[in-house]
Amino acid sequence: MISYGRQWIDKADIKAVTQVLESDWLTQGPKINKFEQKLARYCGAKYAVAVSSGTAALHLAYLVAGLRAGDEVICSPNTFVATTNMLLVVGAKPVFCDIRLDTYNLDEQKVEKLISKKTKAIVPVHFSGQPCEMNTILRIAKKHHLLVIEDAAHALGARYQGEKIGSLSSDMCIFSFHPVKSITTGEGGAVLTNNSRHYKKLLSLRSHGIHKNKLGKNVMADLGFNYRLTDFQSALGISQLRKLGRFLKDRHSVVQWYEQELNSLNQVILPRELPRNYSSWHLYVVRVKNPKLRDRLYKFLRRRGIGVNFHYPAVYSHPYYRRHGFAAFALPNTEIYQKSCLTLPCYPTLARSQIRYISRTIKSFFRSYERTA
Ligand SMILES: *Cc1c(COP(=O)(O)O)cnc(C)c1O
Repeated sequence: MISYGRQWIDKADIKAVTQVLESDWLTQGPKINKFEQKLARYCGAKYAVAVSSGTAALHLAYLVAGLRAGDEVICSPNTFVATTNMLLVVGAKPVFCDIRLDTYNLDEQKVEKLISKKTKAIVPVHFSGQPCEMNTILRIAKKHHLLVIEDAAHALGARYQGEKIGSLSSDMCIFSFHPVKSITTGEGGAVLTNNSRHYKKLLSLRSHGIHKNKLGKNVMADLGFNYRLTDFQSALGISQLRKLGRFLKDRHSVVQWYEQELNSLNQVILPRELPRNYSSWHLYVVRVKNPKLRDRLYKFLRRRGIGVNFHYPAVYSHPYYRRHGFAAFALPNTEIYQKSCLTLPCYPTLARSQIRYISRTIKSFFRSYERTA
């Protein structure tokens, strides 16, 4: 099965990890700082705090932002559930904003009318690696005194109008290093910020809320967690970060090949990068014009070893959300999108021949459908 995404691990990665395994420090050693410095420098942020997952990164960012019961947070329903699950964990209420039908990101034009007295933050998700319209979002946030926390789990290496995602005109930006993301540490994540108070609080909450006082004694001042990344994971992160440029280039090649193969196929809508932006192409999502055929195409491709997927069923459509305040909730563009989207395989090691096979199989589906219709 050609999966929709996968990691690329080479000998240098393996060596970096085994070196740490043979050293004195498996965790809380020197590698984590180094990884954080390199990540912050790559993105152009002042501080990075590496944690055990993207979900942990979201949890800490929300806590540090001071989000709590009674607060409302505007976000996109087209995301992985962790984005809003962590809002529920801190007691805040997700307020879902409809998406645009060109980038499938939250529609910045629809944000302002969702703002109430309880609104505290906006959480833009750079879906599939396409940057959200940040200038507008930041302008709205400033006008209404809201925090902006970017879920950039898909977008390490992406650029908004020439600026790297993570270079932060927002308050915080989170990344994930799960194996399907831009780079991997197995499990892992990070919060980036330019705010030194946020930075100190993130460090504290990552490790039980404990810090050393002036006398060198360990004291617990915040109610924290163990959300630490290990040193061997950090070593993998450092090694992977060196190859990020290559990974991104390869993902762009995959997209170009799909465009060469599928541009002329008028039964599907291909995703497009907005002119001034650079996508990290975490996901390659097409839309099937006739949504009635989407599930049939999904099965057809799966039976032929092509691991297509759905990103995402709207967060509010999951049973848990249906039971917790979103029973009959629906947004028009999100509904159109979630019934027609299909994620095709996209990762750096995909070969031209595999893209040809996937594209040919898609075309043969539509041909056989048209013959029988
Ligand atoms: C992957 C992902 C996360 C969570 O990251 P984990 O490292 O898997 O915990 C959060 N948000 C989005 C949009 C993601 O794709």
